[in-house]
Amino acid sequence: MGHDVETLKSQLPLLEYLRQQNWTGRRAGRFEYVGLCPLHKESRPSFYVNTRKDVFYCHGCGQGGDLIRFVQLSRQASFRQSLAYLTPQTYRDADWTALLKPTAVFYQQQLDHCPEALEYLRQRGLHDPALIRELCIGYAPGGVLRHHLTMQGHSFSVLREAGLINAQGADALYQRIVFPLCQGEHIVNLYGRSIGAAFAHRFLPGGKGGLYAWEKVRRCSEVILVEGLFDYAALRQAGFCNVTCSLGTHLNADQFHQLSDGPRTIYIAFDDDANQSGRQAAEQLAHRLAAHGISTRRVLLPEGHDPNSFFVGGGDAHQFQSLLEAAQP
Ligand SMILES: [Zn+2]
Repeated sequence: MGHDVETLKSQLPLLEYLRQQNWTGRRAGRFEYVGLCPLHKESRPSFYVNTRKDVFYCHGCGQGGDLIRFVQLSRQASFRQSLAYLTPQTYRDADWTALLKPTAVFYQQQLDHCPEALEYLRQRGLHDPALIRELCIGYAPGGVLRHHLTMQGHSFSVLREAGLINAQGADALYQRIVFPLCQGEHIVNLYGRSIGAAFAHRFLPGGKGGLYAWEKVRRCSEVILVEGLFDYAALRQAGFCNVTCSLGTHLNADQFHQLSDGPRTIYIAFDDDANQSGRQAAEQLAHRLAAHGISTRRVLLPEGHDPNSFFVGGGDAHQFQSLLEAAQP
């Protein structure tokens, strides 16, 4: 494998991995976080993460262990598969990343043939065909990717290792709108947003990379930062060009470095959730950026809204511009 378990775990703490999977936990002690268990259905949090020991334990289903154990349980994978799944892309076989491009292209082709996906995009207020093309948005109807890629000569085991296909041979991003995440010319990951009742978000293995479409805005003196790709798309469609997206409220080290690598003002437009998590995350980020000399403004959306729902709910570019102008340091 050439990349041992301890090295892997030291590079990817369990909490960081869980956050990449959009797990949200609140601090429950000096080295402890608690949140809803991703391994079983529950309405009251009983899933604990200990950051010092780098392990989890769920009082609801009784499962516990380290990062590898968590991946085994959550993805129903073997130890070896889990290890391969977690190994960063830079250490992987070149085949892995080479698969992302044909997969993204294939999903893009599926979109126009899937009325349920187009209907979902319409519901989310995304209707500009040129923007949908520019962002290379696709759809995974499920069950067809394996055939398509094996016909192109890729082996089933590589598809599995890349996390594109589950043990049953179905698409991991099944029934999801798919956004390719790019770094320069390269696709580094695919983000899937469920159009049904399945787990809402999913990334493929390997982390989310840097800020979305950062190359486009890195020279702008004012940048709007949103947490979701539909927020990003809604703002772009409304004519705002200086937008980027962190794919969640927790920025990884690369993303934070990008925001803080030069003088600029960041307008943070995270969701205004009922549980205040977006607001808290925005405040924390503003503090961290201030410590690096970056000025920030907090965009206060109407209660319960994110930028996407703001536009879906009838808001227009002019009104959003007013929110930007009213944004507080
Ligand atoms: Zn549990």
